[in-house]
Amino acid sequence: MSRSTMRSLIEQHIPIGGQWRQGGGALMRSVFPADQSINAELHAADLDDVEQAVAVADRSWRAPAWRDLPAHHRARVLYRVADLIDAQREPLARLQTRDNGKPLGETRALVDSAAATARYFGAVCETLDGVLPIPRSAEFMTFSSHEPIGVIAAITPWNSPIASEMQKIAPALAAGNAVVLKPAEATPLAALALARLFEQAGLPPGLLSVLPGRGSLIGEAIARHPLVRKISFTGGTRTGRHLAHVAADKLIPTSLELGGKSPTIVLDDADIELAVQGVVYGIYSSAGQACIAGSRLFVQRACYDHFIQRLQQVACALRIGHPEQEGIHLGPLINHAHRDSVATYVASALAEGGQLRFGGAAPADAALAAGSYYQPTLIEGLSPQARACREEIFGPVLIALPFDDEEALVAQANDSVYGLAAGIWSRDYRRALRLAARLEAGTVWINTYKKFSISTPFGGFKESGLGREKGREGLLAYMQQKSIYLGLDATPMGWSQ
Ligand code: NAD
Repeated sequence: MSRSTMRSLIEQHIPIGGQWRQGGGALMRSVFPADQSINAELHAADLDDVEQAVAVADRSWRAPAWRDLPAHHRARVLYRVADLIDAQREPLARLQTRDNGKPLGETRALVDSAAATARYFGAVCETLDGVLPIPRSAEFMTFSSHEPIGVIAAITPWNSPIASEMQKIAPALAAGNAVVLKPAEATPLAALALARLFEQAGLPPGLLSVLPGRGSLIGEAIARHPLVRKISFTGGTRTGRHLAHVAADKLIPTSLELGGKSPTIVLDDADIELAVQGVVYGIYSSAGQACIAGSRLFVQRACYDHFIQRLQQVACALRIGHPEQEGIHLGPLINHAHRDSVATYVASALAEGGQLRFGGAAPADAALAAGSYYQPTLIEGLSPQARACREEIFGPVLIALPFDDEEALVAQANDSVYGLAAGIWSRDYRRALRLAARLEAGTVWINTYKKFSISTPFGGFKESGLGREKGREGLLAYMQQKSIYLGLDATPMGWSQ
């Protein structure tokens, strides 16, 4: 697929309340993290654009053209979008690689995930019972129906754009809502391309606006808008907590998918080769820029040395390079400022007594000098209280900690404000399941990591989030239930005695 096809997906205008036009805000740039070249320049949305997008969204979701459309017709739009995404798989993957620097293998997977998500929520919405009969009496019968909530504010981060955007847009539209989406500053391009595909798939105008711009200005204004009835947010815990306050003031629901500091645990009976490959993939894929990155490694002391030696061999053989080249394992981090932040965490770990086993710097290769690359890194010997053990680094930095017994392990693994995910490597499924039941995490992988099924709910415990995306819960999160009672008694109502 040629670069020009990818370029043809780059929008100069943004969809605001059913019209594509220039945003009223400042000029913003999408920059390729591999060499700092400019992918696109476009005008961000301004506050007038927010006003218009939300007002039109509010009219649009109430209009019969969407709200009263039978679910199987709404589903058809999602099936068509999925087909259009499949047809543009390669340019959409390249578009995201240019936007956030992830290797093509990863961005192709994100595109596939977006298409699968659209199909799944189409299917769930057309098979969801609209009416749930519950026990009847002679006096009345009652049922409840699921209704849309209204205008949904969807706010997304930069690390998996098309996938996290579709996880909000597909269920929200399937449920009959309108969506005003604010993509991350660094990665506006996939969301704009997606809006164009929804238009081509027959989504009535006004139901999906995409407003790029600063979170503190445009994201904040969308979330606070009185006509917005739900905030669906994926991003950092600090921003999520702030938006939860905004939602609390308005008494509206939120779905929050936030940060993590996930433990991966290697028990002494693990298949070491399988576990090494899984742990390496779990932390170093996406260069560690994943909410679910397995960033705290707990290895049972009996196999610690052997395990770490093999992990070092595998991690140091990973290919770091230009993300548009095939077969690359680690591309650049999103930008230089983020790489500086990762480097600061590594320096703090060393200052707090950690020992650098490998990595800890940008690669020496001169060909990579312009990009914000960072080597896979392993730090040992840290106290679990050290900052690098407790805070989300969001880079290719693994902290290894040996453990002796399961009691101490469970206490340490759960000693985190986060609770997004965990991994367990063991040949003994009884033992692994016992441990899984004690871990405070929304997802636990056993003998695998970072694998997903769209029908399995995903979300965090503790400060990793509220609510679930994916699965039937992922659709119900965008609906509210109405219960209706039908009187069947022909005699006048009596007073209970
Ligand atoms: P971030 O919180 O800085 O930004 C996320 C989005 O929120 C961006 O679009 C940003 O512009 C917007 N925003 C910022 N301030 C806002 C405000 N005051 N009002 C409204 N919107 C505002 O996060 P990030 O750096 O883009 O992403 C990385 C974080 O996302 C990490 O913590 C990662 O763990 C998390 N994440 C979580 C999941 C998950 O599913 N749990 C998935 C991916 C990423």
